[in-house]
Amino acid sequence: MENNVIVRFAPSPTGPLHIGGVRTALFNYLFAKKHGGTMLLRIEDTDQNRFVPGAEEYIKEALEWCGIELDESPWNPGDRGPYRQSERKEMYAEYAEKLVKEGKAYYAFDTSEELSALRDKFEKEKGESFFYNAVMRNRLKNSLTMSAAEVQEKIESGEPYVIRLKVPIKKEIRLKDMIRGWVVVHSHSIDDKILLKADGMPTYHLANIVDDHLMGVTHVIRGEEWLPSAPLHVLLYESLGWANEMPEFAHLPLLLKPSGKGKLSKRDGDKLGFSVFPLQWNDPENGQISSGYREDGFLADAFTNFLALLGWSSGTDQEIYTKEELIEVFSIERISKSGAKFDFEKAKWFNQQYLKTYPVEKLTEKYLETLKAEGIECDFEKAKKITSLMQERVVFPAEIYTNAKFFFEVPEEYDQKVAKKKWNAEVVDVFTYYAAGVKNADNFDETAAKEILVKILEEKGIGMGKVMQSLRLAITGVGGGPDLMPVLEVLGKDEVASRINIAIEKLSSFV
Ligand code: GLU
Repeated sequence: MENNVIVRFAPSPTGPLHIGGVRTALFNYLFAKKHGGTMLLRIEDTDQNRFVPGAEEYIKEALEWCGIELDESPWNPGDRGPYRQSERKEMYAEYAEKLVKEGKAYYAFDTSEELSALRDKFEKEKGESFFYNAVMRNRLKNSLTMSAAEVQEKIESGEPYVIRLKVPIKKEIRLKDMIRGWVVVHSHSIDDKILLKADGMPTYHLANIVDDHLMGVTHVIRGEEWLPSAPLHVLLYESLGWANEMPEFAHLPLLLKPSGKGKLSKRDGDKLGFSVFPLQWNDPENGQISSGYREDGFLADAFTNFLALLGWSSGTDQEIYTKEELIEVFSIERISKSGAKFDFEKAKWFNQQYLKTYPVEKLTEKYLETLKAEGIECDFEKAKKITSLMQERVVFPAEIYTNAKFFFEVPEEYDQKVAKKKWNAEVVDVFTYYAAGVKNADNFDETAAKEILVKILEEKGIGMGKVMQSLRLAITGVGGGPDLMPVLEVLGKDEVASRINIAIEKLSSFV
Protein backbone atom coordinates (compact mmCIF):
# COMPACT_ATOMS: atom_id res chain seq x y z
CA MET A 1 0.00 0.00 0.00
CA GLU A 2 2.92 2.34 0.73
CA ASN A 3 3.45 5.40 -1.43
CA ASN A 4 0.44 5.07 -3.67
CA VAL A 5 -2.28 5.86 -1.19
CA ILE A 6 -4.55 8.64 -2.44
CA VAL A 7 -7.34 9.84 -0.20
CA ARG A 8 -9.75 12.69 -0.56
CA PHE A 9 -11.88 14.86 1.64
CA ALA A 10 -14.97 15.83 -0.32
CA PRO A 11 -17.09 18.37 1.52
CA SER A 12 -20.09 20.15 0.04
CA PRO A 13 -19.99 23.91 0.56
CA THR A 14 -23.48 24.01 2.04
CA GLY A 15 -22.53 25.67 5.31
CA PRO A 16 -19.81 25.61 7.93
CA LEU A 17 -17.86 22.40 8.33
CA HIS A 18 -19.19 20.42 11.28
CA ILE A 19 -16.66 18.93 13.74
CA GLY A 20 -17.63 15.51 12.38
CA GLY A 21 -16.38 16.71 9.00
CA VAL A 22 -13.14 17.92 10.53
CA ARG A 23 -12.68 14.50 12.15
CA THR A 24 -13.21 12.85 8.73
CA ALA A 25 -10.62 15.17 7.19
CA LEU A 26 -8.22 14.44 10.06
CA PHE A 27 -8.51 10.67 9.71
CA ASN A 28 -7.92 10.95 5.95
CA TYR A 29 -4.90 13.11 6.64
CA LEU A 30 -3.42 10.78 9.27
CA PHE A 31 -3.93 7.79 7.01
CA ALA A 32 -2.35 9.51 4.01
CA LYS A 33 0.65 10.74 5.99
CA LYS A 34 1.14 7.38 7.65
CA HIS A 35 1.42 5.71 4.25
CA GLY A 36 3.38 8.46 2.55
CA GLY A 37 0.37 9.07 0.35
CA THR A 38 -1.49 12.05 -1.06
CA MET A 39 -4.46 13.85 0.39
CA LEU A 40 -6.63 15.89 -1.88
CA LEU A 41 -9.65 18.04 -1.30
CA ARG A 42 -12.55 18.12 -3.69
CA ILE A 43 -15.39 20.58 -3.37
CA GLU A 44 -18.66 18.80 -4.14
CA ASP A 45 -20.73 21.71 -5.34
CA THR A 46 -23.01 20.19 -7.96
CA ASP A 47 -26.11 21.15 -6.02
CA GLN A 48 -26.17 24.86 -6.71
CA ASN A 49 -29.39 25.31 -4.74
CA ARG A 50 -27.59 24.43 -1.55
CA PHE A 51 -24.55 26.59 -2.19
CA VAL A 52 -23.74 28.91 0.71
CA PRO A 53 -21.41 31.88 0.17
CA GLY A 54 -18.33 31.74 2.34
CA ALA A 55 -18.59 28.00 3.02
CA GLU A 56 -15.61 27.10 0.83
CA GLU A 57 -13.38 29.73 2.48
CA TYR A 58 -14.54 28.43 5.83
CA ILE A 59 -13.50 24.87 4.94
CA LYS A 60 -10.08 26.12 3.86
CA GLU A 61 -9.53 28.17 6.98
CA ALA A 62 -10.74 25.43 9.31
CA LEU A 63 -8.41 22.82 7.83
CA GLU A 64 -5.50 25.24 7.93
CA TRP A 65 -6.20 26.05 11.55
CA CYS A 66 -6.21 22.34 12.41
CA GLY A 67 -2.92 21.79 10.59
CA ILE A 68 -4.50 19.39 8.10
CA GLU A 69 -2.28 20.04 5.13
CA LEU A 70 -3.66 19.25 1.71
CA ASP A 71 -1.38 18.01 -1.05
CA GLU A 72 -3.87 19.04 -3.71
CA SER A 73 -6.88 21.32 -3.52
CA PRO A 74 -8.60 24.11 -5.44
CA TRP A 75 -6.12 26.47 -3.78
CA ASN A 76 -3.11 24.29 -4.32
CA PRO A 77 -3.81 22.37 -7.51
CA GLY A 78 -1.84 19.35 -8.70
CA ASP A 79 -2.41 17.37 -11.87
CA ARG A 80 -5.63 15.65 -10.82
CA GLY A 81 -7.75 18.80 -11.00
CA PRO A 82 -9.95 20.67 -11.33
CA TYR A 83 -10.93 20.25 -7.69
CA ARG A 84 -14.40 21.76 -7.77
CA GLN A 85 -17.12 19.61 -9.28
CA SER A 86 -18.69 22.70 -10.82
CA GLU A 87 -15.51 22.99 -12.91
CA ARG A 88 -15.68 19.32 -13.97
CA LYS A 89 -19.27 19.45 -15.27
CA GLU A 90 -18.53 18.25 -18.81
CA MET A 91 -16.95 15.01 -17.66
CA TYR A 92 -20.00 13.54 -16.00
CA ALA A 93 -22.53 13.57 -18.85
CA GLU A 94 -20.12 11.59 -20.98
CA TYR A 95 -20.12 8.71 -18.52
CA ALA A 96 -23.89 8.79 -18.06
CA GLU A 97 -24.34 8.62 -21.85
CA LYS A 98 -21.85 5.78 -22.05
CA LEU A 99 -23.93 3.81 -19.56
CA VAL A 100 -27.08 4.46 -21.62
CA LYS A 101 -25.35 3.22 -24.77
CA GLU A 102 -24.28 0.06 -22.99
CA GLY A 103 -27.79 -0.59 -21.68
CA LYS A 104 -26.82 0.05 -18.06
CA ALA A 105 -28.74 3.28 -17.70
CA TYR A 106 -31.71 4.86 -19.45
CA TYR A 107 -33.42 8.14 -20.26
CA ALA A 108 -36.49 8.87 -18.18
CA PHE A 109 -39.06 11.51 -19.16
CA ASP A 110 -41.46 11.33 -16.25
CA THR A 111 -42.12 14.77 -14.89
CA SER A 112 -41.82 15.40 -11.19
CA GLU A 113 -45.60 16.07 -11.08
CA GLU A 114 -46.27 12.65 -12.57
CA LEU A 115 -43.96 10.99 -10.12
CA SER A 116 -45.35 12.71 -7.07
CA ALA A 117 -48.90 11.82 -8.16
CA LEU A 118 -47.79 8.20 -8.41
CA ARG A 119 -46.15 8.40 -5.01
CA ASP A 120 -49.39 9.69 -3.45
CA LYS A 121 -51.45 7.04 -5.18
CA PHE A 122 -49.18 4.28 -3.95
CA GLU A 123 -49.31 5.48 -0.43
CA LYS A 124 -53.05 5.91 -0.41
CA GLU A 125 -54.09 2.79 -2.29
CA LYS A 126 -51.44 0.32 -1.34
CA GLY A 127 -50.04 1.76 1.83
CA GLU A 128 -46.52 1.34 0.55
CA SER A 129 -43.80 3.60 -0.79
CA PHE A 130 -43.23 4.08 -4.45
CA PHE A 131 -39.80 3.30 -5.87
CA TYR A 132 -38.58 3.89 -9.39
CA ASN A 133 -37.11 0.40 -9.59
CA ALA A 134 -36.82 -2.75 -11.70
CA VAL A 135 -40.55 -3.43 -11.47
CA MET A 136 -41.86 0.10 -11.93
CA ARG A 137 -39.51 1.20 -14.68
CA ASN A 138 -41.35 -1.08 -17.14
CA ARG A 139 -44.53 0.94 -16.65
CA LEU A 140 -43.08 4.45 -16.78
CA LYS A 141 -42.03 6.93 -19.43
CA ASN A 142 -38.48 5.99 -20.27
CA SER A 143 -36.24 4.68 -22.99
CA LEU A 144 -36.90 1.12 -21.86
CA THR A 145 -40.60 1.37 -22.58
CA MET A 146 -40.47 3.60 -25.66
CA SER A 147 -39.22 2.99 -29.16
CA ALA A 148 -35.85 4.41 -30.15
CA ALA A 149 -37.56 6.77 -32.56
CA GLU A 150 -39.87 8.08 -29.88
CA VAL A 151 -36.98 8.69 -27.53
CA GLN A 152 -35.02 10.42 -30.25
CA GLU A 153 -37.96 12.65 -31.02
CA LYS A 154 -38.49 13.65 -27.42
CA ILE A 155 -34.86 14.50 -26.94
CA GLU A 156 -34.72 16.51 -30.16
CA SER A 157 -37.83 18.44 -29.26
CA GLY A 158 -36.12 19.52 -26.06
CA GLU A 159 -38.29 17.58 -23.64
CA PRO A 160 -36.55 17.43 -20.27
CA TYR A 161 -35.17 14.07 -19.18
CA VAL A 162 -32.94 12.53 -16.59
CA ILE A 163 -30.61 9.55 -16.85
CA ARG A 164 -31.26 6.77 -14.36
CA LEU A 165 -29.12 3.80 -13.44
CA LYS A 166 -30.68 0.50 -14.50
CA VAL A 167 -30.16 -1.44 -11.31
CA PRO A 168 -29.81 -5.18 -12.08
CA ILE A 169 -32.80 -7.22 -10.98
CA LYS A 170 -31.29 -10.03 -8.99
CA LYS A 171 -27.89 -9.24 -7.76
CA GLU A 172 -26.08 -9.47 -4.51
CA ILE A 173 -23.87 -6.47 -3.99
CA ARG A 174 -20.93 -7.02 -1.71
CA LEU A 175 -18.40 -4.63 -0.35
CA LYS A 176 -15.76 -5.04 2.28
CA ASP A 177 -15.61 -2.04 4.55
CA MET A 178 -12.27 -1.67 6.32
CA ILE A 179 -14.03 -0.92 9.60
CA ARG A 180 -17.25 -2.89 9.34
CA GLY A 181 -16.23 -5.95 7.38
CA TRP A 182 -18.52 -7.38 4.71
CA VAL A 183 -21.63 -5.46 3.82
CA VAL A 184 -24.03 -7.40 1.61
CA VAL A 185 -27.09 -5.81 0.06
CA HIS A 186 -29.56 -7.17 -2.45
CA SER A 187 -30.19 -5.04 -5.53
CA HIS A 188 -33.95 -5.08 -5.03
CA SER A 189 -33.47 -2.67 -2.12
CA ILE A 190 -31.88 -0.08 -4.41
CA ASP A 191 -33.95 2.14 -6.67
CA ASP A 192 -32.93 3.37 -10.11
CA LYS A 193 -31.10 6.45 -8.87
CA ILE A 194 -30.87 9.51 -11.05
CA LEU A 195 -27.32 9.97 -12.33
CA LEU A 196 -27.76 13.02 -14.51
CA LYS A 197 -30.37 15.66 -13.74
CA ALA A 198 -32.59 17.44 -16.25
CA ASP A 199 -30.31 20.49 -16.15
CA GLY A 200 -27.38 18.34 -17.25
CA MET A 201 -25.76 18.38 -13.81
CA PRO A 202 -24.73 15.10 -12.25
CA THR A 203 -26.13 13.92 -8.94
CA TYR A 204 -23.79 13.41 -6.00
CA HIS A 205 -23.52 9.68 -6.71
CA LEU A 206 -22.36 9.94 -10.30
CA ALA A 207 -20.01 12.85 -9.75
CA ASN A 208 -18.49 11.29 -6.66
CA ILE A 209 -17.72 7.96 -8.37
CA VAL A 210 -16.44 9.48 -11.61
CA ASP A 211 -14.19 11.85 -9.69
CA ASP A 212 -12.85 9.27 -7.27
CA HIS A 213 -11.98 7.11 -10.24
CA LEU A 214 -10.43 9.81 -12.40
CA MET A 215 -8.49 11.22 -9.47
CA GLY A 216 -7.11 7.77 -8.66
CA VAL A 217 -8.51 7.68 -5.14
CA THR A 218 -7.45 4.44 -3.42
CA HIS A 219 -9.27 4.79 -0.09
CA VAL A 220 -12.62 6.41 0.59
CA ILE A 221 -12.71 7.35 4.27
CA ARG A 222 -15.97 9.10 5.14
CA GLY A 223 -18.78 9.31 7.66
CA GLU A 224 -21.15 6.48 8.46
CA GLU A 225 -24.04 8.43 6.98
CA TRP A 226 -22.69 7.42 3.55
CA LEU A 227 -22.74 3.70 4.27
CA PRO A 228 -26.26 3.24 2.82
CA SER A 229 -25.02 4.75 -0.47
CA ALA A 230 -21.97 2.51 -0.67
CA PRO A 231 -23.68 -0.47 -2.38
CA LEU A 232 -25.00 1.86 -5.05
CA HIS A 233 -21.48 3.19 -5.48
CA VAL A 234 -20.14 -0.34 -5.89
CA LEU A 235 -22.80 -0.93 -8.52
CA LEU A 236 -21.71 2.22 -10.32
CA TYR A 237 -18.07 1.14 -10.32
CA GLU A 238 -19.13 -2.19 -11.79
CA SER A 239 -21.40 -0.59 -14.39
CA LEU A 240 -18.68 1.79 -15.47
CA GLY A 241 -16.25 -1.11 -15.86
CA TRP A 242 -14.04 0.04 -13.02
CA ALA A 243 -14.69 -2.80 -10.59
CA ASN A 244 -11.05 -3.83 -10.55
CA GLU A 245 -9.86 -0.39 -9.59
CA MET A 246 -12.48 0.26 -6.96
CA PRO A 247 -11.17 2.10 -3.89
CA GLU A 248 -11.38 0.57 -0.45
CA PHE A 249 -14.06 1.96 1.84
CA ALA A 250 -13.90 2.92 5.50
CA HIS A 251 -17.04 4.39 7.05
CA LEU A 252 -16.27 6.24 10.27
CA PRO A 253 -18.50 5.90 13.34
CA LEU A 254 -20.98 8.69 14.03
CA LEU A 255 -20.32 11.39 16.59
CA LEU A 256 -23.05 11.12 19.21
CA LYS A 257 -24.52 13.69 21.58
CA PRO A 258 -22.91 13.62 25.05
CA SER A 259 -25.92 11.64 26.31
CA GLY A 260 -25.10 8.96 23.74
CA LYS A 261 -28.59 9.40 22.34
CA GLY A 262 -28.61 10.42 18.70
CA LYS A 263 -26.23 11.94 16.27
CA LEU A 264 -24.52 15.20 17.13
CA SER A 265 -25.94 17.51 14.51
CA LYS A 266 -25.14 20.97 13.23
CA ARG A 267 -28.21 22.29 14.97
CA ASP A 268 -27.01 21.06 18.35
CA GLY A 269 -24.37 23.76 18.33
CA ASP A 270 -24.50 26.05 21.35
CA LYS A 271 -27.77 24.45 22.51
CA LEU A 272 -25.86 21.77 24.36
CA GLY A 273 -23.48 24.31 25.79
CA PHE A 274 -20.59 23.83 23.40
CA SER A 275 -19.64 24.53 19.81
CA VAL A 276 -20.04 22.04 17.01
CA PHE A 277 -17.96 24.05 14.55
CA PRO A 278 -14.18 24.46 14.43
CA LEU A 279 -14.40 28.20 13.73
CA GLN A 280 -17.04 30.77 14.44
CA TRP A 281 -19.60 30.95 11.64
CA ASN A 282 -21.53 34.04 10.69
CA ASP A 283 -24.50 32.82 8.71
CA PRO A 284 -24.75 35.07 5.63
CA GLU A 285 -28.45 34.27 5.26
CA ASN A 286 -29.79 35.20 8.67
CA GLY A 287 -26.86 36.89 10.36
CA GLN A 288 -26.83 34.26 13.11
CA ILE A 289 -23.48 33.62 14.75
CA SER A 290 -22.48 30.12 15.82
CA SER A 291 -19.50 29.75 18.09
CA GLY A 292 -16.33 27.92 17.14
CA TYR A 293 -13.54 26.15 18.97
CA ARG A 294 -10.89 28.59 17.78
CA GLU A 295 -12.74 31.64 19.06
CA ASP A 296 -13.70 29.81 22.25
CA GLY A 297 -10.02 29.61 23.10
CA PHE A 298 -9.07 26.11 22.05
CA LEU A 299 -5.55 25.52 20.85
CA ALA A 300 -5.54 23.88 17.44
CA ASP A 301 -3.30 21.01 18.57
CA ALA A 302 -5.47 20.27 21.59
CA PHE A 303 -8.57 20.31 19.42
CA THR A 304 -7.16 17.92 16.83
CA ASN A 305 -5.73 15.62 19.50
CA PHE A 306 -9.20 15.47 21.05
CA LEU A 307 -10.83 14.77 17.66
CA ALA A 308 -8.35 12.02 16.85
CA LEU A 309 -9.63 10.05 19.82
CA LEU A 310 -13.26 10.26 18.78
CA GLY A 311 -13.78 6.80 17.38
CA TRP A 312 -10.12 5.81 17.26
CA SER A 313 -7.85 4.61 20.03
CA SER A 314 -4.29 3.42 20.11
CA GLY A 315 -5.15 0.59 22.47
CA THR A 316 -2.96 2.11 25.21
CA ASP A 317 -3.66 4.63 27.96
CA GLN A 318 -1.83 7.39 26.17
CA GLU A 319 -4.07 10.32 25.30
CA ILE A 320 -1.74 13.19 24.49
CA TYR A 321 -0.18 12.84 21.06
CA THR A 322 1.74 15.23 18.88
CA LYS A 323 0.69 15.25 15.26
CA GLU A 324 3.78 13.23 14.36
CA GLU A 325 2.97 10.62 16.99
CA LEU A 326 -0.60 10.38 15.74
CA ILE A 327 0.62 9.79 12.20
CA GLU A 328 2.93 7.09 13.53
CA VAL A 329 0.34 5.15 15.54
CA PHE A 330 -2.83 5.76 13.54
CA SER A 331 -4.45 2.78 11.89
CA ILE A 332 -7.86 2.11 10.38
CA GLU A 333 -7.99 -1.25 12.19
CA ARG A 334 -8.25 0.57 15.50
CA ILE A 335 -11.27 2.66 14.49
CA SER A 336 -14.36 1.47 16.30
CA LYS A 337 -17.65 0.52 14.68
CA SER A 338 -19.85 2.06 17.33
CA GLY A 339 -20.65 5.74 17.63
CA ALA A 340 -18.29 8.01 19.58
CA LYS A 341 -19.86 9.99 22.40
CA PHE A 342 -18.91 13.63 22.30
CA ASP A 343 -17.53 14.72 25.66
CA PHE A 344 -16.96 18.45 25.88
CA GLU A 345 -15.36 18.17 29.34
CA LYS A 346 -12.74 15.96 27.75
CA ALA A 347 -12.12 18.59 25.09
CA LYS A 348 -11.49 21.10 27.87
CA TRP A 349 -9.16 18.68 29.61
CA PHE A 350 -7.10 18.42 26.44
CA ASN A 351 -6.94 22.17 26.14
CA GLN A 352 -5.73 22.50 29.69
CA GLN A 353 -3.00 19.92 29.14
CA TYR A 354 -1.82 21.69 26.01
CA LEU A 355 -1.95 25.10 27.67
CA LYS A 356 0.36 23.92 30.43
CA THR A 357 3.17 23.32 27.98
CA TYR A 358 2.34 26.19 25.65
CA PRO A 359 5.22 28.68 25.23
CA VAL A 360 4.70 31.35 27.87
CA GLU A 361 5.69 34.17 25.50
CA LYS A 362 2.99 33.20 23.03
CA LEU A 363 0.41 32.90 25.78
CA THR A 364 1.49 36.31 27.06
CA GLU A 365 0.75 37.76 23.62
CA LYS A 366 -2.78 36.38 23.80
CA TYR A 367 -3.18 37.79 27.30
CA LEU A 368 -1.98 41.19 26.17
CA GLU A 369 -4.58 41.15 23.41
CA THR A 370 -7.32 40.53 25.96
CA LEU A 371 -5.99 43.29 28.20
CA LYS A 372 -5.88 45.67 25.28
CA ALA A 373 -9.48 44.85 24.39
CA GLU A 374 -10.40 45.57 28.01
CA GLY A 375 -8.61 48.90 27.81
CA ILE A 376 -5.94 47.87 30.31
CA GLU A 377 -2.36 48.93 29.79
CA CYS A 378 0.34 46.49 30.79
CA ASP A 379 3.95 45.98 29.76
CA PHE A 380 5.16 42.66 28.40
CA GLU A 381 7.24 41.68 31.43
CA LYS A 382 4.43 42.16 33.87
CA ALA A 383 1.99 40.36 31.58
CA LYS A 384 4.45 37.51 31.26
CA LYS A 385 4.77 37.17 35.05
CA ILE A 386 1.00 37.03 35.43
CA THR A 387 0.75 34.54 32.59
CA SER A 388 3.26 32.17 34.14
CA LEU A 389 1.44 32.37 37.47
CA MET A 390 -1.87 31.53 35.84
CA GLN A 391 -0.82 29.18 33.05
CA GLU A 392 -1.32 25.95 34.99
CA ARG A 393 -4.60 27.07 36.43
CA VAL A 394 -6.69 27.81 33.35
CA VAL A 395 -8.51 25.89 30.65
CA PHE A 396 -8.71 28.78 28.18
CA PRO A 397 -6.25 31.62 27.58
CA ALA A 398 -9.00 34.18 28.23
CA GLU A 399 -9.27 32.90 31.80
CA ILE A 400 -5.86 34.33 32.61
CA TYR A 401 -7.71 37.62 32.60
CA THR A 402 -11.17 36.61 33.79
CA ASN A 403 -9.95 34.41 36.67
CA ALA A 404 -7.44 36.94 37.90
CA LYS A 405 -8.89 40.40 37.46
CA PHE A 406 -7.39 41.27 40.85
CA PHE A 407 -4.11 41.99 39.11
CA PHE A 408 -5.75 45.17 37.83
CA GLU A 409 -8.65 45.74 40.19
CA VAL A 410 -8.80 46.33 43.91
CA PRO A 411 -11.30 43.81 45.31
CA GLU A 412 -14.73 45.32 45.70
CA GLU A 413 -15.97 42.45 47.76
CA TYR A 414 -14.33 39.90 50.00
CA ASP A 415 -15.31 36.28 50.37
CA GLN A 416 -17.42 36.46 53.49
CA LYS A 417 -16.91 32.84 54.47
CA VAL A 418 -13.15 33.19 54.44
CA ALA A 419 -13.38 36.47 56.30
CA LYS A 420 -15.55 34.92 58.98
CA LYS A 421 -13.17 32.04 59.49
CA LYS A 422 -9.82 33.74 59.20
CA TRP A 423 -10.00 37.49 59.74
CA ASN A 424 -9.38 38.56 63.34
CA ALA A 425 -7.62 41.08 65.57
CA GLU A 426 -4.34 39.18 65.48
CA VAL A 427 -4.34 39.22 61.69
CA VAL A 428 -5.10 42.93 61.64
CA ASP A 429 -2.25 43.58 64.05
CA VAL A 430 0.24 41.65 61.87
CA PHE A 431 -1.03 43.29 58.69
CA THR A 432 -0.71 46.79 60.11
CA TYR A 433 3.00 46.15 60.60
CA TYR A 434 3.24 44.29 57.34
CA ALA A 435 1.74 47.14 55.28
CA ALA A 436 4.24 49.54 56.81
CA GLY A 437 7.14 47.12 56.31
CA VAL A 438 6.26 46.54 52.69
CA LYS A 439 5.97 50.23 51.98
CA ASN A 440 9.44 50.85 53.33
CA ALA A 441 11.12 47.96 51.51
CA ASP A 442 14.01 48.94 49.24
CA ASN A 443 13.78 46.09 46.80
CA PHE A 444 10.35 44.63 46.86
CA ASP A 445 10.14 41.23 45.22
CA GLU A 446 8.61 37.89 46.18
CA THR A 447 11.51 37.01 48.48
CA ALA A 448 11.34 40.35 50.25
CA ALA A 449 7.55 40.09 50.49
CA LYS A 450 7.96 36.83 52.32
CA GLU A 451 10.93 37.84 54.49
CA ILE A 452 9.15 40.92 55.80
CA LEU A 453 6.16 38.84 56.80
CA VAL A 454 8.24 36.06 58.37
CA LYS A 455 10.11 38.59 60.48
CA ILE A 456 6.94 40.14 61.87
CA LEU A 457 5.44 36.72 62.56
CA GLU A 458 8.58 35.56 64.37
CA GLU A 459 8.60 38.65 66.55
CA LYS A 460 5.00 38.05 67.46
CA GLY A 461 5.30 34.29 67.74
CA ILE A 462 2.55 33.60 65.26
CA GLY A 463 2.54 30.79 62.68
CA MET A 464 2.42 31.50 58.94
CA GLY A 465 -0.73 29.38 58.59
CA LYS A 466 -2.69 31.81 60.73
CA VAL A 467 -2.37 34.74 58.34
CA MET A 468 -1.77 33.50 54.81
CA GLN A 469 -5.35 33.09 53.70
CA SER A 470 -6.29 36.43 55.17
CA LEU A 471 -3.47 38.07 53.28
CA ARG A 472 -4.74 36.49 50.09
CA LEU A 473 -8.23 37.69 50.94
CA ALA A 474 -7.01 41.25 51.47
CA ILE A 475 -5.12 41.27 48.15
CA THR A 476 -7.47 39.32 45.86
CA GLY A 477 -10.84 39.24 47.61
CA VAL A 478 -11.01 35.43 47.48
CA GLY A 479 -9.58 32.48 49.34
CA GLY A 480 -7.75 30.69 46.53
CA GLY A 481 -5.52 31.47 43.58
CA PRO A 482 -1.96 31.37 42.32
CA ASP A 483 1.15 31.55 44.54
CA LEU A 484 0.68 34.63 46.69
CA MET A 485 4.20 36.03 47.09
CA PRO A 486 4.81 36.35 43.35
CA VAL A 487 1.39 38.01 43.10
CA LEU A 488 2.57 40.60 45.64
CA GLU A 489 5.71 41.19 43.60
CA VAL A 490 3.67 41.80 40.45
CA LEU A 491 1.37 44.25 42.27
CA GLY A 492 4.26 46.19 43.76
CA LYS A 493 4.75 47.49 47.29
CA ASP A 494 2.49 50.53 47.17
CA GLU A 495 -0.46 48.59 45.82
CA VAL A 496 0.06 45.79 48.37
CA ALA A 497 0.23 48.20 51.27
CA SER A 498 -2.78 50.10 50.05
CA ARG A 499 -4.92 46.95 49.55
CA ILE A 500 -4.05 45.73 53.02
CA ASN A 501 -5.15 49.03 54.52
CA ILE A 502 -8.37 49.02 52.53
CA ALA A 503 -9.13 45.47 53.70
CA ILE A 504 -8.43 46.36 57.34
CA GLU A 505 -11.00 49.07 57.06
CA LYS A 506 -13.62 47.17 55.10
CA LEU A 507 -13.38 43.98 57.14
CA SER A 508 -13.46 45.70 60.52
CA SER A 509 -16.78 44.08 61.37
CA PHE A 510 -15.09 40.66 61.46
CA VAL A 511 -12.63 41.66 64.17
N1 GLU B 1 -19.97 15.56 -0.51
C1 GLU B 1 -20.18 14.51 0.44
C2 GLU B 1 -20.30 15.18 1.82
O1 GLU B 1 -20.60 16.31 1.87
C3 GLU B 1 -19.01 13.55 0.39
C4 GLU B 1 -19.30 12.15 0.79
C5 GLU B 1 -18.15 11.25 0.43
O2 GLU B 1 -17.09 11.42 1.05
O3 GLU B 1 -18.28 10.44 -0.47
O4 GLU B 1 -20.12 14.63 2.86
